[in-house]
Amino acid sequence: MALTAFNQETDSRTGDMRKLKIIALALLLQLPIAVHVFAQTDNVTPQERLRGSVTPEREWWDLLHYNLQVEFILERRRLRGSNTITFRTLKPGNKMQIDLQPPLAITKVTHGDAELRFERDGNVYWVMFEKEVPQGVEDKIEVFYEGIPTASKNPPWEGGITWGRDDLGDPFINTTCEGIGASIWWPNKDHGADEPDRGMQISVTVPENLVAVSNGRLKKTDHDVAAKKNTYHWEVVNPINNYGVNVNIGNYINLSDKYQGKNGVLDIEYWVLPHQKEAAMKQFKEVHRMLEAFEYWFGKYPFYEDGYKLVTVSYPGMEHQSSVTYGNWFRNGYLQRDPCACGVGFKFDFIIVHESAHEWFGNNISMKDAADMWIHEGFANYAENLFVEYHFGKNDAEDYVVGTRRSIRNDRPIIGTYGTNREGSGDMYPKGGNMLHTIRQIINDDEKWRSILRGLNADFRHQTVTTEQIESYITKKAGIDLSKIFDQYLRTTKIPVLKYTVSGKTVSFVYERVVPGFAMPLRVMINGKETVITPNESKQTLDYPEEIKSFEVNRNFYIQSEKTN
Ligand SMILES: [Zn+2]
Repeated sequence: MALTAFNQETDSRTGDMRKLKIIALALLLQLPIAVHVFAQTDNVTPQERLRGSVTPEREWWDLLHYNLQVEFILERRRLRGSNTITFRTLKPGNKMQIDLQPPLAITKVTHGDAELRFERDGNVYWVMFEKEVPQGVEDKIEVFYEGIPTASKNPPWEGGITWGRDDLGDPFINTTCEGIGASIWWPNKDHGADEPDRGMQISVTVPENLVAVSNGRLKKTDHDVAAKKNTYHWEVVNPINNYGVNVNIGNYINLSDKYQGKNGVLDIEYWVLPHQKEAAMKQFKEVHRMLEAFEYWFGKYPFYEDGYKLVTVSYPGMEHQSSVTYGNWFRNGYLQRDPCACGVGFKFDFIIVHESAHEWFGNNISMKDAADMWIHEGFANYAENLFVEYHFGKNDAEDYVVGTRRSIRNDRPIIGTYGTNREGSGDMYPKGGNMLHTIRQIINDDEKWRSILRGLNADFRHQTVTTEQIESYITKKAGIDLSKIFDQYLRTTKIPVLKYTVSGKTVSFVYERVVPGFAMPLRVMINGKETVITPNESKQTLDYPEEIKSFEVNRNFYIQSEKTN
């Protein structure tokens, strides 16, 4: 997903104003400037726990496959369908948690020839097996459901169904569900930790004059002449995260393309509305540039088997796996804005670059818990500047990543509350990107850094992970203990301040507002010459061979610096 375009600037400005006022007041009263680490565990509801944690009723079975069949009944804005859930038991069990949010309702659950009993508890159903299912067996149930699903008020930030019309008045329908969860439109195990290992089949029935586009490859289309309906059968053969599953319905046409990539020929499709064809053929050339840059930085595109698609929709965009959705007006920038306010943002199509970066970070490597959403958004934000570096050089990339700092609020930590489906601060985007950029400076070896990014994608391929796994992987491969850096930027709202005093041939410096043990090395320019210093919480003094006329911290390190007397 992309950071909300319009809140981004206005809120960061008011945020800065608020911060300035607090600092001004603190200075006036000579108070220490305390920065809070917010406790976020208050008022967690039982429903949030059920949604956000691996409950005992989820833990005993491992997802192998979903087969979702769903009909979109346009005139009544209803859905009707079923999901066949194939699983392997990790432990014996007889009670299964299946998520489906009202007003949708499960109508029947079958297990072979038997019908299973179920009970509802808000967004959750408890499905009871006739008898205990033993450990180590493969089994399946079919969950039937229907109803009027929640309509999205602000896609993709508020999920649900968008029952819209295109510019020419034809039906144009999209699903979005990041955050709120896929159970807003289909029944499933709605938690990031478990993905169907063998992928998913998505069969969508729509009126015969419309086309339904979903993830993966279109295997076949059935035409029911009497009912005047078409069913589109799509198939994903790789594991897929729930929120990455989507359906888009409209008067689509398909433009095909190919890319000669690191794993051979990648099949590409652009599903657009007929009047968008010309604009799409021009703007979507960005896809080749994106693939070239990201295969260089991150390794091969992770889903060659499922192909790559761009599908036009009525909202800005979303990282739906192998079916990236696009609504960025066929223009560079992000909804005609420049995220860095430095001009570089207009050199590329933000949605194609950002949402496709999620194919590596988000879809290939997926978070187990929503509190670790920065693994998706921090890296996708960071990928924007790697794209810029690949195509336009380091200086533009640095302008870009430094420029995006204007959106950082430091309101709450980047990591959210585990086990609750609560994400951390929106800072996970620009601050997450700047943290990774800062870590690259610490490692100070571009080839090693690139091998770490590629290594993450190879070693965690098609897996769900935790922040700790990412941290320890980077630390191990870098050969540098980065734990305090991750703690500082992911778990506090504090930005390190380097206080320094220049006097003749000496400079004294110290870090303030840092976690205990924080000692990040910095590249600084003294009289125009680069020097590495390693400040910590104790004041240190550097003797320089000549009179110090200028002292400047390299801008790529995300810290604040303050000259004192
Ligand atoms: Zn994103």
